[in-house]
Order: sequence, then structure tokens, then C-alpha cells
Amino acid sequence: MSTEPVATEVGRDFIRDIIQADLDQAKYREIVTRFPPEPNGYLHIGHAKSIALNFGIAQEFPGRCHLRFDDTNPVKEEQEFIDSIQADVHWLGFDWGKNLFFASDYFDRLYEWAEQLVRDGLAYVDDQTQEEIRTSRGTLTEPGKNSPFRDRTVEENLDLFRRMKAGEFPNGARVLRAKIDMSAGNINLRDPVLYRILHAHHPRTGDKWCIYPSYDYAHGQSDAIEGITHSICTLEFEDHRPLYDWFIEKLPVPSKPHQYEFARLNLTYTLLSKRVLTQLVREGHVAGWDDPRMPTMAAMRRRGVPPAALREFVKRIGVAKANSVVDVGMLEFCIREELNRTAQRRMAVLRPLKVVIENYPEGQVEELDAINHPDDPSAGTRKIAFGRELYIERDDFMENPPKKFFRLSPGNEVRLRYAYFVKCTGVIKNSNDEVVELRCTYDPATRGGNAPDGRKVKATMHWLPAATSKPAEIRIYNQLFSNPSPDAANFAADLNPQSLEILSDARIEASVAESNATEPMQFERQGYFVRDKDSTPGKPVFSRTIGLRDTFAKEVAKG
Ligand code: ATP
Ligand code: MG
Repeated sequence: MSTEPVATEVGRDFIRDIIQADLDQAKYREIVTRFPPEPNGYLHIGHAKSIALNFGIAQEFPGRCHLRFDDTNPVKEEQEFIDSIQADVHWLGFDWGKNLFFASDYFDRLYEWAEQLVRDGLAYVDDQTQEEIRTSRGTLTEPGKNSPFRDRTVEENLDLFRRMKAGEFPNGARVLRAKIDMSAGNINLRDPVLYRILHAHHPRTGDKWCIYPSYDYAHGQSDAIEGITHSICTLEFEDHRPLYDWFIEKLPVPSKPHQYEFARLNLTYTLLSKRVLTQLVREGHVAGWDDPRMPTMAAMRRRGVPPAALREFVKRIGVAKANSVVDVGMLEFCIREELNRTAQRRMAVLRPLKVVIENYPEGQVEELDAINHPDDPSAGTRKIAFGRELYIERDDFMENPPKKFFRLSPGNEVRLRYAYFVKCTGVIKNSNDEVVELRCTYDPATRGGNAPDGRKVKATMHWLPAATSKPAEIRIYNQLFSNPSPDAANFAADLNPQSLEILSDARIEASVAESNATEPMQFERQGYFVRDKDSTPGKPVFSRTIGLRDTFAKEVAKG
């Protein structure tokens, strides 16, 4: 696998080329695609790629895209997942209209077609155990062995299959298999399983069924029932395509869909396997499916990632036929670009250090103008109160600064954003010799942040008034994994112990604390932040969507 992002001309890819060619040849009146999630987890950013592709095609060409739940395994599927998937597709900006379907809606028809395969001598009931079926399937280099039950009569097969359906046998006792070719080069054609016995309650069909169809058997037939023209899936299904076509050819299906495969999205520092994501949640490595460190859409929404940034990301990575790994920095770039354009600016002090302006009159407060968006005058301004006691960022002060440190230090003058030039005149320490407060003076002639005598300062710092700013908890998220290619088989070893940093003494502008706005905003010099659902009336919680610069990639490069 290469680590290069796949460069394609935006909006053009081999699947769209195929569709255009099909339309040019008048093969279809309308293009019909589908997004077919299994409701066994929350959607992640890989799914966003598939959603944008399938729904995007339906928008660009005359067509429609169905949302179809592939709900053939009741043991793993839950209503919570069905609901979250619908919410996520809508959030991403796509709509299936009235085209919401469930594979379980087709269970009757799928069953009838299975009986037909039995009657046509193309399917049989196998009594072998799962293990026997697995070992007799052979390998890539050895052909499989025929099951001793392969030559049952049609009557016997039909009787056994009906009794499977009637619930006469326990789980795993028998399966229905297609009778294709146990020596086929493609292992998927070595008598694949069509139905297994599973005494389980289904969220939609209840206890009606105790046999459930396999993915391979259900998927193509569901496509055909819905009149899907282009059934687009990820590359791991390429070897399943001959089987997909075999069913479509043997069964009296109402339409003949075709399967096309594209490369799935892989991201550095990220695992997108649902098995891993489920384990992360179940084992408590994260706080839930929407923990902001998760690669799920629910997590990204909670974290303040704009859906437009995800759409832009999947557009930029394009659709290719070869697997690759995309640098997570590309996703972060798209998020930053969108937020830089749309997010209003505010000030917050993450790690406060108190400052007393000694020559500022006690009890006096001044309302200064602060700009809400530097590139968008229509966003307006707001008032921010300057007074004798302020907070600045602890990191913006050094008592014994190195040469290139231009921020506040004893004797050095800096600009407080929108306010005045201030100079540090003294330091107050606690018994541990830690700086707990600064003494400063301000120059009243520099109101607004410019000196009439033209003198310059080398740093502009954010700050907040001590009296009217409000306390807040700020959560800084880093990559969930510290390894650029985490090991899915042993992911716990690759977890980043520093993936969450909680700053519980932060200060924010009063208006930010009081507003319930859900849009992310930029805290100047710190990054983009969004109010989290864990906020309480007395203590708002803000999550960092993303930092201002790509410090992470630089740190990695430095080693
Ligand atoms: P699993 O099948 O292991 O439960 P899955 O991620 O394939 O996991 P599905 O619900 O079957 O989950 O996926 C729905 C659709 O999303 C499928 O068409 C699948 O190919 C596509 N998809 C899943 N993961 C990715 C990915 N990383 N990149 C692009 N498309 C993906
Ligand atoms: Mg799948």
C-alpha cells in the first residue's frame, strides 16, 4: 500500500466514467445506487466516502440513491445503530427521500428463490458442522472436497430446508449451500452458504424467522429487487462478484444489477474496522461511539467538524481502484480550511495566569471592540471588558526567557489584543517558587493596540478580564493511536496515553459561556472549539475540534 493520497481530478473517477458511458449507450433511463450499511455499529469516515460516492452519483446523474439496511444478522444488529446511521447520513448532507429499505423486507422473496434453487438442483442442505465445511473448502492451492450430503435428492433437500425454516433444528445443525463447484479457483464459488439456522429475535421481523440469509445471497438479490443499476462496494468484494453474478443469472430477478468495486478509505493513526471500534467502546477505551477521539461521524459531529469539511475531504481523496492510506493530516487540513472560513473568533485562556495592571485605576472597566471574523466584516464586532485584573496564558510568560522568546517576560513590552501595550514589572511567587501572578503597567496612549509614537512590540497576546470572564473545562484531543499504522489485531498496545487532556481551570468570554451555540468557534491563537454536551449550567465544557496549525505532523517528523 502506498501512503500517497490518491490524486484524481475532482469530480471525475472510473466509476463516474462507467456510469457516463452506460448513459451514453442508453443502457439505463435512470441511475440507481444504494448505500447498504449493516446496522451493527456507528458509521465512520470510511462510510462517509461510500455515502458521498453513492448519493453524490445520484445527484450528479439523473438518478436516486437508496438507503438500505443490510439487516441479515439479528445477533449483532440494534435499533440504536439504525437510528444513528440515518442521523449521520442526513448530517453529512444527503437524503434518501422515500427510498428507505431493509434487506429483511425481502426475506420472503429470498426464501422462495432459495427453494427455487433447491428445485433446480442448484442448492442443497448440508449437515456438516461449520468446522467441517471450513476444512473441506480447500485452500487457494488445493481444491475443496464435496460434502457427503451434496447429492441429496431435490425432495429430501426441500423437506429439510422447510424443516430448517419451521424451526425443527438447533442453531448450526444444518445450512443451505449453493451447488456450484468445489474445485473452483475462486473459493467464493465453492458451494457458498445461503442460509444458516439462527434462533434469534430480529428487530424488524421478530420471531418469524429462525433461518437467515448470508450477505452474499441477500445482497445482490436485494439490489435486483430495488432496481439498483450500479452496486458499488469496496475492493474486498471483488472476488465475490462471480457469485453475485451467478445468483443474478440463475434466479428470476426483476432486474440485473452490476457490482463495481473501489478502494476503501484507510487513514493514518486511525482504525476503521467496526470490530475494533466496537471493542474500543465495549472495553471502555473511549467514552462511547461519539467520544470525540473516535473516527465515527457521530464523534466528528460532537467534536465540531463541519459536514462540509468531510464532503470536501472525500472529494479531494477521490475514488480509486487501488488501496492506499491517506494521511490524516489531509482530513485535518480540510477541517481547518472550512472552520477558518466559517468560525467566529473569541478569546479563551486555557491555562490562566493572573495579571494586575498596577497603573490601571481600581474599579475602572472599559469596553473595547473585538472583531468577530477578520475576513468577514459582516460578522461584526463585540465588546470585551478591560480592567485592572486580567488573565493571560501561562505559556505566554517566561521569567528567564531564551533569546527568541518575544512574549511577556520581566521588562518586556507586548500588545494585549484589542487593548493596550503592557510591560511586566514584577513577579509574585508561591512558597514552591512558582509564578502565581504578574505585575504589569500599561500605556494609556496605546488604546486599541497601537502606539502613537510608532514603537513596535513583537508579540500580540490574547487575554481575558478576571472579573467578568467565566470558568470552563476545555478538552484537548490528540490522536487516539500513537502509531501511524495501528495494529488492528493488537490495537490496545498502540493506544495513545495522551489522547485526552483536560484543562479544568480555563477561562472563556462571558458571552461564550452564556450562549448555547453549537457552532464551533476559534479561540484566538488556540484553535477551534465547540461546546460539548457534557456542559452544565455552572461549568461549560469545550472540546477542541482541531488546533490552528499542524503541529502534530511536525512533531512526528522531528521524531
Ligand atoms: P463490516 O462489514 O465489517 O461490519 P463495514 O465497514 O464493511 O464493516 P458495512 O455496514 O457493511 O460496514 O458498510 C456499508 C458500506 O460502506 C459498504 O458498502 C462498505 O463497502 C462501505 N465501507 C465500509 N468501510 C469503508 C471504508 N473504509 N471506505 C469506503 N467505504 C467503506
Ligand atoms: Mg461490510
